[in-house]
This record gives sequence, C-alpha cells and structure tokens, in this order.
Amino acid sequence: MTRFVFITGGVVSSLGKGLTTAALGALLQARGYKIRLRKLDPYLNVDPGTMSPFEHGEVFVTDDGAETDLDLGHYERFTGVAAKNTDSISSGKIYSNVLEKERNGDYLGKTIQVIPHVTNEIKEFIKIGENEVDFMLCEIGGTVGDIEGLPFFEAIRQFAREKEHGSCIFMHLTLLPFIDTSGELKTKPTQHSVKELRSIGLSPDILVCRAKERIPEIEREKLALFCNVKTESIISAYDLNSIYEAPLAFHNEGLDTAVLDAFGLEWKKTPDLSIWKDVADNINFPEGEVRIAIVGKYTKLGDAYKSIAEALTHGGIANNAKVIADWIDAEIFEKEDPSSYLQNFHAILVPGGFGERGVEGKILAAKFAREKKIPYFGICLGMQMAVIEAARNLGKLENANSEEFTEVNNSNEIIPVVFHLGKWIDNGKIVTRKTTDKKGGTMRLGAYEAILTPGSKAHKIYKEPKIWERHRHRFEVDIKYQEILENNGLCFSGISPDGSLPEIVEITNHPWFIGVQFHPELKSKPFAPHPLFSDFIRAALEQSRLV
Ligand code: GLN
Repeated sequence: MTRFVFITGGVVSSLGKGLTTAALGALLQARGYKIRLRKLDPYLNVDPGTMSPFEHGEVFVTDDGAETDLDLGHYERFTGVAAKNTDSISSGKIYSNVLEKERNGDYLGKTIQVIPHVTNEIKEFIKIGENEVDFMLCEIGGTVGDIEGLPFFEAIRQFAREKEHGSCIFMHLTLLPFIDTSGELKTKPTQHSVKELRSIGLSPDILVCRAKERIPEIEREKLALFCNVKTESIISAYDLNSIYEAPLAFHNEGLDTAVLDAFGLEWKKTPDLSIWKDVADNINFPEGEVRIAIVGKYTKLGDAYKSIAEALTHGGIANNAKVIADWIDAEIFEKEDPSSYLQNFHAILVPGGFGERGVEGKILAAKFAREKKIPYFGICLGMQMAVIEAARNLGKLENANSEEFTEVNNSNEIIPVVFHLGKWIDNGKIVTRKTTDKKGGTMRLGAYEAILTPGSKAHKIYKEPKIWERHRHRFEVDIKYQEILENNGLCFSGISPDGSLPEIVEITNHPWFIGVQFHPELKSKPFAPHPLFSDFIRAALEQSRLV
C-alpha cells in the first residue's frame, strides 16, 4: 500500500513547508523507504516558467524539461530523487486540462464544476505513479484559507476518504509567535489555523510548529489538547544554522517517528543519518573561507538564484570551506569600474538571466576575471557573456553580441556570436522554434547530452567523456565562431552529440575560466556536490591563498 502524506501550511507563508517536506523525505529514505515528493500550487499560472524570479524565486527545471516551483529543488537536494514533470502542478494547469477536456467533449455535455471536475483532475494528478513508491509526499502551496487553495484542500479530503483506511495523513505547518513584551510563545494562531482546516473537513495528524527555539512541553501539551493531536506529534521546527541540519533536527524532534506512528508502522530501528551528520559537520566546522561575487540581475531576492547559492554551499562542503557569496548588480559596472568591486573576491560567477539589462556589466565582469586571472564561472547567460567578451576582445570581433537583446536585433552591424536557436534535436526528434512563438514552455528545456573534449579542464573535472545536464534557454553560442575563438584561447570543450551546439567553453591559459550553456546548479546535492562547483570552490580557495 502506498502511503500519502499531505503537507499544508497555516498562519503565514514562507515557513519552510518545502524544506520540511524535503527533510521528511530524507528521513523516510534513511529508514529504507522509497519516496516521491510533489508540489501542488494553487496559483493560476500554468507553470512558473514565465513568472518573474523577483516575485517567485528561481524556476527549477527537471530532467524531462518541466519548469517548476523552486521547492522541487529542495526536494531533489535533500533526497536525490530526480523530480519529474508529473511532480508539480498548479491551478492554471489543472484548469487548462479540465477546459481542454470540456472542449474535446470528454465530459459528455455535463455542467463543468469545481466539484467534481476540478477536484477529480487534482486527485488523478496525485495518483500518477503511486504504486512505484512507499510514500508519496504532497505539499499544497499557499496557506489554509486562501481562496485559490480550496479545490486542493477539498481534493485531498476526498482523496483520503476514497483511499484505503490508514493510507493518508495530514501534516500542518504553522508559526508560534513570541510576544516580547509578555515573554510568551503564543499557540492561538495555530489553534485558529487548525480550526480553519477542520472547517473544510481536514484534521491534522501532525503539527510542525515554527518558532525561534524549541517549543516547551507546556505549549506542546496545550496545542495537542486544543488541536486534537497527540503530544508526540507536535513537532518543534526551530531556527537552525543551516537548512541541511533539518533532517537531523527533525529526527531529534520525532518527526519521522510521528509520521510512522500515524500510519501505524513499526519504527524500532534508528535510521542511518550519517550523510547528514557529515554534511552538518562540514558546514559547522569549515577550515577555509572564500568570497565569491555573483554578478547578476535578480540580486534583490535571495530565492532568485536559490540553486546557485545552494550549489556554492555544496562546493564549500566538498572543500571543507565556508563560502561567502555576495550578490552584485551587474548594472553598476556600466557606470563604475568593476575592479573596485571585484578585486576583493576570490572568484566570480555570472549566473543565468534574461533580457538586456546589465549585460554589458556582466561582459565587463568576465573581462576582469579573464585579465586578472580570477576564477570565473559563467552559467548559461554567464557563458554567453564570456563568449561575447572573448569574441570582442580576443577575437577582434568588436560588434559581437547576442540576438537576444532588442537593440542589437535592430542593428545590422552586429556579429551574432549568440543567436536564436530555431531548430535542434531532442531525443532523436527535430524541434523547431520561431522568435514569435508564445513564451511558456518554448525554450530548450531539460537534460541534454554533451560530449567533452578529452584532456580539457571540463573532462578532468567531470572525469567522464559524456555528461547530461539541464537546460533552459532560447539562445546559443554559434558554432561557426569556434575556430576564431579557439585560435584566440577560448576552447569549446563540451559540444552536443551532433556537433552543432557548444555546451562548455574554457580558457586553458587561466587558473579557472569555464562557461556552461546548461545549469549544473540544478543537479548539485549537499551529499554529492556538483563537480564543477566543487572544483570552482577549490580554485577559489587557491586564489584566496594568493591574495
Ligand atoms: N537569456 C539567455 C537565453 O535564453 C540565457 C538564459 C539563461 O541564462 N537561463 O539563451
């Protein structure tokens, strides 16, 4: 029997539901269970692909090319289970499916309603591949009481009612505010949140309560009584030094045993959490320290580059070093000399991005790193910027640019070393795209293979001749500039199997200068840091010893 854990949130948003779900997944895995994690988002966007990273944080891309919520990144980082496009859904997608069925006449003329048509669509989604795992963890986005969330809450109520008795439990995450003036931890908002849940037919089996510190016994008992939950199932989620301590902390608070108890499962054996102990030790007792400048566009919201920040931490774990990442808005370099900002860093990273703003600043950051021999890591747009810089300053193609930038598009003078990709091969099939295509889901998305040049830096770092990495972009470096760029020191060390698309570029005569067209950060895990990030931090540590 597959068991379902539904995770909901109350009181306020941003409590770390995604992290809690991910950490619970890791704990169940450590007890030998096979798991899958899913996110159900009540917003009306069909997927997060076209949502602003300023508003919604990073878009996480799966191997099979889905553009998903960043929580799927947490799930993968904590469990190593590669997310699929069937692990993320939104109201927008549910409604589009329902409306498409209605247009196809699939409902045989019935009146289409939230109950049963929308709720049935949600239930069908939850069931996909259910028999492949022991536990399906389904997180409902937003907070209880949100209008958009109601069909999801109703669907999971029906789901539990229809499934075998004892196969579904509900876990609710809330906040316990501390009132300074009275010196009290307040349980009332949680009581109200549970009341709200109950009013729509859901009774939580487990309450995970966020607070600054561990929740004292007296408050746990009070919550247990008023919320009709066992005291052992009131779990403290207190602030931690690092998110990667969450599996250990939740285990110590009894989260995994509470879940197994709620299902009536035996839990005598203690789980093997050694990987998490090693990760926590590495983070808490680093031996070195490096400062990395991330020169980007979406620098105001930490979550906009979530996977990059995490992958840098993982690179630090691999080198037993603390990574201090500073976010710098690339636009500054269009007015001010980059050296005053960048000279104190041990390495520079230019991440992915879209649109024209700040691109000249990123090109200057790549130039600074190349000339000053500071480790440079260009990811997606960051690689394209490094190529433009090399084309202009090494290859003497002064008008080198990317077709992405509108001003550039309107000028005949430019040399499009980065061009709009109109045709490529995906899984043996030809895909075509026009610049006028609609925006949603039309990029080169998901995992593609690349062949590495033997003896290149990339090959030495990966220690493999072929790699699969995840993509999310419309533009590409034009292979026809390979010769001129290679003659000037920028080598193409990773290329698509058909030889048409440059995937990795590097400068041989430089301590560490690598650009990648894909997003390696999406595959990095704390217990298995991505080799490019590990080696980048190693190079940064070496740089720190020079200055
Ligand atoms: N905007 C660039 C493109 O579409 C880069 C995208 C990215 O960095 N993910 O090709």
